Amino acid sequence: MSAQRPIRTERELVDAGLVAPAAEEAVARVTLRYAVAISPTIADLIDRQDTGDPIARQFVPDIAELTQTPEERADPIGDGAHSPVSGIVHRYPDRVLLKAVHVCPVYCRFCFRREMVGPQGLGTIAPAELDAAIAYIAEHSEIWEVILTGGDPLVLSPRRLHEIMERLGAIDHVKIVRFHTRVPVVEPGRVDAELVQALKASGKTTYVALHANHPRELTPQARAASARLIDAGIVMVSQSVLLKGVNDDAAVLAELMRAFVETRIKPYYLHHPDLAPGTSHFRLTIEEGQALVAALRGRVSGLCQPTYILDIPGGHGKAVVGASTIAAEGGGCYTVTDFRGNEHAYPPSG
Ligand code: SF4
Repeated sequence: MSAQRPIRTERELVDAGLVAPAAEEAVARVTLRYAVAISPTIADLIDRQDTGDPIARQFVPDIAELTQTPEERADPIGDGAHSPVSGIVHRYPDRVLLKAVHVCPVYCRFCFRREMVGPQGLGTIAPAELDAAIAYIAEHSEIWEVILTGGDPLVLSPRRLHEIMERLGAIDHVKIVRFHTRVPVVEPGRVDAELVQALKASGKTTYVALHANHPRELTPQARAASARLIDAGIVMVSQSVLLKGVNDDAAVLAELMRAFVETRIKPYYLHHPDLAPGTSHFRLTIEEGQALVAALRGRVSGLCQPTYILDIPGGHGKAVVGASTIAAEGGGCYTVTDFRGNEHAYPPSG
């Protein structure tokens, strides 16, 4: 029988058949250090017979998380360096992150904000802090887009989301509100009419970026939840992290991107994994990532091509890190490489 609530402790992991009894004590050291939650939907998706199951790898705590490497850091993308008031990250001129909540329905083992999210994390923003964050947005007319992230903003009640959206709706210069979430995949039943109405309450153009990393996450229920958002006029884009043992395979990536497009979700970002503490077992090299992304070219439709990006540590923003397909040869001439790896002169001679 399926669990009715998230799995959070080492005992529950053992009882659910996700951790071997002999490993309980070791896993307890991980659950003490980092938040754990596996929603019933995700627990049901895990194949217990497959020791390398890509869904389990994303959510079931692993002793490897206790290994920290020197280049890893608590705030890998440098949010703290760009936070003028609590709950706001203002890294780029025309947009801000609004971090209203630091709780998630699941905790990803590779999370870039793993030091901030979870029961011991920063929790939900206090009412006075939310007032100050919204006042900051209202005072900065250059802010065109507000990105609600966290944590997962869709864990907030529809009433709370409605209230935040109405307040953003009253700010003229804000034209776009974007949510980053895993909810349609990990808790699809939460996307009901009330939640959809709350997300539309600002009257602004609303985007939802769905975080998923393996094609099996795009279940019929996840696709139906996404359809409820899209049919209501919300635009959806995807966000994935390139992860060793999950999706570091061109065929898996192609299937994931196709699953997004079939769901009417435009592939947007494919992140190189961040230098979050205890996540070195997920990281592949930039060259490996570039080769995987290059393999998507020609293999799948242009609609299925995400942008491969790296968040520069220290808060310096994102950089596109896909391999270049063009090299300058001087005199206005170039060598261009096609998707088969063949080189061509541009402009062609003769
Ligand atoms: S849902 Fe996002 S913020 Fe939450 S644990 Fe996963 S990656 Fe981190």
